[in-house]
Order: sequence, then C-alpha cells, then structure tokens
Amino acid sequence: MNIDNTTMIRMLHDSKIRPSVHRLAVLDYVANSGTHPTADDIYAEISKDYPAVSRTTVYNSLHTLVDGGILKELEIDNGSAHYDFARQSPHSHFKCRNCGRIFDMALPAGIAEVVSPGFRVDAAELCFAGACPECIDRNKNSNN
Ligand SMILES: [Zn+2]
Ligand SMILES: [Zn+2]
Repeated sequence: MNIDNTTMIRMLHDSKIRPSVHRLAVLDYVANSGTHPTADDIYAEISKDYPAVSRTTVYNSLHTLVDGGILKELEIDNGSAHYDFARQSPHSHFKCRNCGRIFDMALPAGIAEVVSPGFRVDAAELCFAGACPECIDRNKNSNN
C-alpha cells in the first residue's frame, strides 16, 4: 500500500476527523507499513519522528481512526490488538507463531456462504497460524 498525504487528509475529512499530525502519522504507519502493528509498535515508531508524543495521544488517535472506519482492530492475539488499514480489499491473515509477524493472504471467494441461513454477514475474519518461510528456513539451517 502506498497512500499519500493528500489521500489520507481527504479520508479523515470524509470521516469528520480533524487531520492532526499525530493522527496522520498513525494512519501512515498502519496503512503503509503493512505490518499490522500493535499500539505499542505504533507508539515506538511514531516517537522516533515525534519524540514529544505521548502514549495516550497514540492510543486516542488509534481509537478515533477505528471509530471513523479508517483503521480496524484485528482479532488475532488474545493479548494486544493488531491494527490494519480498513479500506483495502478483504483479505485473510497468517500469523507466524515463531516471529509473531502477521502476513496478508487472499480470502477465498464465497466464504460468507458457509454461514447458516438467517444470519447477515457484514465482516469476515480468517486467520491462519503456523510458521512463515523465513522461520522455516532459519529452523532448517540451525538443525544442520
Ligand atoms: Zn516467522
Ligand atoms: Zn491485513
């Protein structure tokens, strides 16, 4: 993903959110890094560019962006929530149990068809778990 500043500012305006520098920095990192960071990851990254930013500001910016439907919280860990850019085509996730990274994967067409009749679907989350190729490689090498 590469979403420029103008597009981000327009998105915030459309959701009636004032585009503060911190909100833009949070959105930029989540949307453009593609790493599905936690709030702590985001704080660590943002404070490199904005050393004066507080954890509370980052958390509040995240909540505002989630409420505005621009970011979403992923239900992956039982621990800390991971965030993703909400306005991209539906996809599933793969969580590596070894390095903890979360990767985007395709979502099979027609996945909502497995839902029992009478239920109305408005979101689908699918998460695989296992080992990523890098971790598998590293494991192979360390066994030699
Ligand atoms: Zn891994
Ligand atoms: Zn994702």
